Formats: sequence, structure tokens, C-alpha cells
Amino acid sequence: MSREPSRFTIALRQVHRRLTAFIMSVVALFGAYQLHYHPQTPLPQEWNAALPLDVSAPVSALTGWKLRQALASPDACLAALDQTARYEALTPRNDREECNVPNRVALSDLANVSLSLDETSCATALRTAMWIEHGVQPAARELLGTQVARVVHIGSYNCRRIRTSSGNSTRWSSHATADALDVAGFDLADGRRLRLIRDWSDTDSAGAFLRAAQASSCKWYRTSLGPEYNALHADHFHLQATGWGTCR
Ligand SMILES: [Zn+2]
Repeated sequence: MSREPSRFTIALRQVHRRLTAFIMSVVALFGAYQLHYHPQTPLPQEWNAALPLDVSAPVSALTGWKLRQALASPDACLAALDQTARYEALTPRNDREECNVPNRVALSDLANVSLSLDETSCATALRTAMWIEHGVQPAARELLGTQVARVVHIGSYNCRRIRTSSGNSTRWSSHATADALDVAGFDLADGRRLRLIRDWSDTDSAGAFLRAAQASSCKWYRTSLGPEYNALHADHFHLQATGWGTCR
């Protein structure tokens, strides 16, 4: 007949279990720390939460979080832009309460394409870099067999209210804070020039590319309005960092 374990034995087993769990946690934490911070870590950039956003790194489940981290501070945004853009940091713009751009930049190149823009916000530039790198260029390679060489736009900052089909709204446009960019088309490395106003309804690869480019923009901006949205957008994509996820 087996004897019941004594209270002392039970207590000892409990201490042993807790001590083992504690040591395992310490080992796991130490391993996780080493995985992220060791100089020779095998963890790729895009999976390493300790490393900031790298625009050219493949997209992982952490990329959205890394982008939000980069957008959360002016310095982190400029640091992320440093790797992917030729740009000039400008003094903040403050025209009136509704029209201001604190982290203002002028762009000449972005994500290895020509994008000449006299002023936008760092945040809009960074979102656009992610879109070009992970949306526009993969679609151009797949559907057109070439690369985009230049993004053609009609501006970012504009101190104005929202335009609607029925006239001006009382609300201020996201352009008033340079939280939006209007893209009119793309010049390709093989010399072709695609414009929304002419090529959006194309039933061949040019139209397919423009539709893929817009679809991918929805991942990097909160709002993307194009020719299907209304006649005001027949000639451009309105790409906006703010909003409730309208993508049409
Ligand atoms: Zn716009």
C-alpha cells in the first residue's frame, strides 16, 4: 500500500515546479533577447522587432508595426526615409491652424524611382516609398515586364477644403497637412508613359497594372480614391494617410 506523500514532499514538489518554470522563462527571455540584439543574429531584418523599418526589406507580419513606429516620431520617419530617398528636410510649414506640415520634406528620388516633389510630409513620403517598393514595382515587373522609372503626380500640400461632386465641403482636405498625394501616372523604364486619364479603362496590361497599383496602395494608405470613385478622380489616385479605409 503506497503512502500519501507528506506535506513537506508536496511543498517541495511545488517549489521545484515553480523554480523550473522560472528558469525556463529566464532562458526563453534570454534567448529572445539574444535573437533580437546579438550582432550575428540569424533573424532577418523584417522579423527583428529591435531593428527599425527598412523600406527595401521584404514585408513580414511585423512590417505594419514597424511602419507605425517609424511614423510615430519625426526623427524615426526621417531615419527611415534616409535609406530610400533623395530628399531635403524643410522647415515646418504653418500657414494657419488647418494648414500645417510639421515634418516637411522635398523629394527628388524615392524607392529608386524619380519622384520630384517640392513639399510633402515625411509620413506621406514614407508610405509612398512602401507602396512603390512593395506594390507598384512588383506589379510593373509582373504585368508589364519592366520597372517604373518615374511617378507622375499633381502634388501633395494644398491649403484647401475637401472637394466633392457637389462642391466644396466645410471640412479641410488631407492635402492641407500634406497627408495625401495625388498620383496621375507612371513613366516606365522602357519608355512607355501610363496616365490614369487615358489608360485606366485599358483592357490590356496597362489597365491591369494601374488597377493593381491602386489595389496595393490600400495596404499603405488608409484611403485610396481613383477613377472608379467619382469623376473628380478620373485623372489621379488620391492617396491619403488618414481616413476609414475607403479603397475605390
Ligand atoms: Zn488628392
